[in-house]
Amino acid sequence: MTQPVTSSTPGITRPNSHSESQRTVQRIVVLGGGFAGLYVVQWLEKLFKHHAGVEITLMSRNNYFLMTPFLFEAGSGVLEPRHAVTPVRRIFKRARFIEAEVEKIDLEKKCALGRHAPGGHEYEIEFDHLVLALGGVTNRSLIPGADQAIAFKTLGDAIFLRNKIIDLFERADAEEDPEVRRRLLTIVVIGGGLVGVELMGELTEFIDNLLRSYPRLSREFVRFVLVEAHERILPEMEESLARYAAERLWRRGVNLITGTRVQRIERGKIVLPAKEAGDGQSVEIEAETILLAAGIAANPLLATLPVEKARNGRVVVDGAMRSKQHPWLWALGDCALIPDPKGNPYPPLAQHALREARVLAHNVAAAILGREKEIKPFVYETMGMLASLGHYDGVGRIGPVRVRGFLAWWVWRTYYMLQMPRIERKLRVVMDWTVALLFKNDVAKLDLFGERHPTHQDEPNQVERIKGAEIARSSKEIMSK
Ligand SMILES: Cc1cc2nc3c(=O)[nH]c(=O)nc-3n(C[C@H](O)[C@H](O)[C@H](O)COP(=O)(O)OP(=O)(O)OC[C@H]3O[C@@H](n4cnc5c(N)ncnc54)[C@H](O)[C@@H]3O)c2cc1C
Repeated sequence: MTQPVTSSTPGITRPNSHSESQRTVQRIVVLGGGFAGLYVVQWLEKLFKHHAGVEITLMSRNNYFLMTPFLFEAGSGVLEPRHAVTPVRRIFKRARFIEAEVEKIDLEKKCALGRHAPGGHEYEIEFDHLVLALGGVTNRSLIPGADQAIAFKTLGDAIFLRNKIIDLFERADAEEDPEVRRRLLTIVVIGGGLVGVELMGELTEFIDNLLRSYPRLSREFVRFVLVEAHERILPEMEESLARYAAERLWRRGVNLITGTRVQRIERGKIVLPAKEAGDGQSVEIEAETILLAAGIAANPLLATLPVEKARNGRVVVDGAMRSKQHPWLWALGDCALIPDPKGNPYPPLAQHALREARVLAHNVAAAILGREKEIKPFVYETMGMLASLGHYDGVGRIGPVRVRGFLAWWVWRTYYMLQMPRIERKLRVVMDWTVALLFKNDVAKLDLFGERHPTHQDEPNQVERIKGAEIARSSKEIMSK
């Protein structure tokens, strides 16, 4: 691999630009290091093990790979948050990694622009083949005021949610007004699909464990509300399985509101349409914790690309995951619309993304090696689908077999543990689970923000109050001199 070449343009590094004499090198750039991007790079490394003339670079926002199915447990303290991620630099053998936020993709010049941090160093990376694996973002366009809600997609979201809930319990513990306490301890999840249901399941377990440390608070002070626009939760699964999940959540005290679209979200409350009340009045549910799990939208960066896109903004590719306009442009995972043999799009799921990665790497290799005939479409029959409901409970289908209860929960956990890259991370995850079995969730608040915690963002915080008092005092002193 060639050494970095720094451009003459001040402030911009061109990590993979070559002089004309070096132009025989083929540069594959992968954008996004999630399930899709990470596995593509791993497969490309294997396929080009003995090809020094091929450079593989991954550019992604974080220097770790996040195992999203473990996000719920990272958020509840069952898993140490760091154990839900794996550092990419420990996974790659020869591929290059650049930690940067991709800000622009220039398909004409065949380069991508990334920035290390807001206002930070810029990179311009050139490519011969580009793989888009940028995933999606939480869909905030469906509900007015959705910016008020908390997303649940990144490691930061999980750490933030856990801190927020523990913080609210601390406040509720000292609160005497039952109405205020009720609001502090009301948790609303908007979206009853896979992510919303799993999140609610894990939260019920987390809060049951949390309550043991707050003897002044009891379960009846806590209110869980799950709102779903479809007539039932888990529309991804067959009805009998969804019924099982609904019953389990209901038994744990979750209020399930189905067939209802949230009208709007305001600070500290959600507003439901009139039909809920039956008297023409819309219903307001006051809650300090409002979580949004109502689907994903396309990565906004894709909107800037002059290529065919579906209505939901995902890049349309053929069955081989290649752009119809540019034979050197590829896309997969949540940011791509990949048709199955019947023309239906594959769902945005991790189990698909990691399998798409293998086929896409094979296809890129075939294109680079001039074996166009070997390029093949991605064909995959879903193995099944499982959802963890917390409390050692789960539900789903493995092939033709429906599974419920502990077995479903165990299979779900084991499957994703085995998908976790690196034996060291697998071990850490298993150890965390074992410790959690014996000692229950850790309730210590990892307050990364100190007094400037975002849950207090609209209140003058302690530091500002002290600073304010100091400024007032010193200005008085100056005036009196
Ligand atoms: C909480 C949760 C639980 C889930 N559970 C399951 C499950 O149990 N089973 C299942 O099959 N699926 C599950 N999914 C869905 C699954 O995570 C996705 O389908 C999968 O992650 C898609 O992979 P991807 O690589 O396309 O996108 P992602 O995994 O989202 O990866 C995209 C990557 O691109 C990076 N990126 C994005 N924009 C930029 C930018 N501008 N610059 C630089 N980098 C950028 C991101 O940081 C990320 O690393 C879950 C999703 C969530 C949120």
